[in-house]
Amino acid sequence: MYDIIIIGGGASALFLAANITDTRVLLLEKTAQVGNKLRITGGGMCNLTNCDEPDRFLMHFGSPQQRTFLKPALMNLSPAATQVWFTERGVPLTVREDGKVFPRSLDARTVISMLKDQAQQNGVEITCDAQVTEVCVQDQIFTVRTAARSYQSLQVVIATGGMSYPATGSDGSGYALARSLGHTIIEPTQALTSLVIKDYGLSELSGNSIRDSHITCFHEHEQRRYLQADGDLLFTHKGLSGPVILNSSRHIRTGDLITASLFPSQGGETAREEMHRALLKDPKKQVSTILKSYGLIGRLIEHLLDQLQLSRDVRCAELSKKDRTALVQLLAAYPFTVSRKGYFSSSMVTAGGVSLAEVQRTTMGSRIVPGLFLAGEVLDIDGDTGGYNLQAAFSTAKLIADHFSRTLVTR
Ligand SMILES: Cc1cc2nc3c(=O)[nH]c(=O)nc-3n(C[C@H](O)[C@H](O)[C@H](O)COP(=O)(O)OP(=O)(O)OC[C@H]3O[C@@H](n4cnc5c(N)ncnc54)[C@H](O)[C@@H]3O)c2cc1C
Repeated sequence: MYDIIIIGGGASALFLAANITDTRVLLLEKTAQVGNKLRITGGGMCNLTNCDEPDRFLMHFGSPQQRTFLKPALMNLSPAATQVWFTERGVPLTVREDGKVFPRSLDARTVISMLKDQAQQNGVEITCDAQVTEVCVQDQIFTVRTAARSYQSLQVVIATGGMSYPATGSDGSGYALARSLGHTIIEPTQALTSLVIKDYGLSELSGNSIRDSHITCFHEHEQRRYLQADGDLLFTHKGLSGPVILNSSRHIRTGDLITASLFPSQGGETAREEMHRALLKDPKKQVSTILKSYGLIGRLIEHLLDQLQLSRDVRCAELSKKDRTALVQLLAAYPFTVSRKGYFSSSMVTAGGVSLAEVQRTTMGSRIVPGLFLAGEVLDIDGDTGGYNLQAAFSTAKLIADHFSRTLVTR
């Protein structure tokens, strides 16, 4: 009989195991090793948190409900406290200008090996190649089954992650476990993902970005925009990516229209007026020269001029009013129709998961099954890119660890 069984061996499970002492804890990981997804975070460098203060930090999550839910966890283990926690345990950190925090080694393996060592020092038993296929509870005792055997415990923590990058082991099987225990699963969808664009004519720009683009999103057949956002936009071979797209992708659907400014802009009339003025100011100048001064790359300028059937060396004076208006319209709000979002196999995070209404935000305890807890991305939580998702995994895990250390009576 264990006091606690942790299902999963990812960021939240390892952080929990590294913070529990004086109890009999078993961690069951489905794959051959723990921390598979952690290993590839931040391009292998592990962007483990962000310097934002908790209140600003919370604005980087998908919905007001998520923000309210996460607040106690983030107040209990803030981004600043997380940095202290890692530093004190021999993982010095480095903070980038944009606020992203990484281990100084710039190697995610440093983080995994410290968490694993810490867990083992705490006496946590780690068993890999152990996919949990069933959890049931009777008379307040949990039975946890894998293909090889079954285990019993007084408390269970589901920390099985979402269903993006399933090759890392996070394949959504945790949702079935939570559902079998009576929990509602908010339909999982891809988040922090790129977009495939219908009739995309910009493949040759793949790898180039627009700094600080302004995007506006409309659902199919709807006139009213549902989202505006600013940030860097990246052209890919099949469509769009970059922070402004990744962070907005949780809300985006197939068939949506997205307009994007092709020069740094906060959008709106001012940007259009500025561009109109620039094209009128010096009639002898080539249009391409003006556009280059706004940071547009040559191939994009050629594409725009070709699309409007204008010569590539057209001068500002040669533009008719109609041409100028059409050019400014494309520059300020280039239209893209979403063919589909990236698949789960290439999305960084899963939006959706265990309904937050069924979990106590001060302990991460299930409101449905006493003794059951949930941590990390298996919950209906999804943050922006920038260290927000790992911090959510760590903070939800720490709430559980602190709850156990206050309340656990071992048998
Ligand atoms: C490419 C990529 C880059 C990312 N970069 C960043 C970044 O830099 N910063 C950031 O904040 N976030 C980043 N993320 C997101 C972040 O990695 C996740 O949000 C975080 O790992 C979630 O932690 P978790 O513990 O909930 O789940 P996971 O880390 O996904 O761990 C879940 C574990 O549970 C195991 N498991 C699943 N089902 C079972 C079962 N039935 N039985 C036993 N074990 C099971 C899985 O094998 C897995 O090891 C990135 C994600 C990806 C895909």
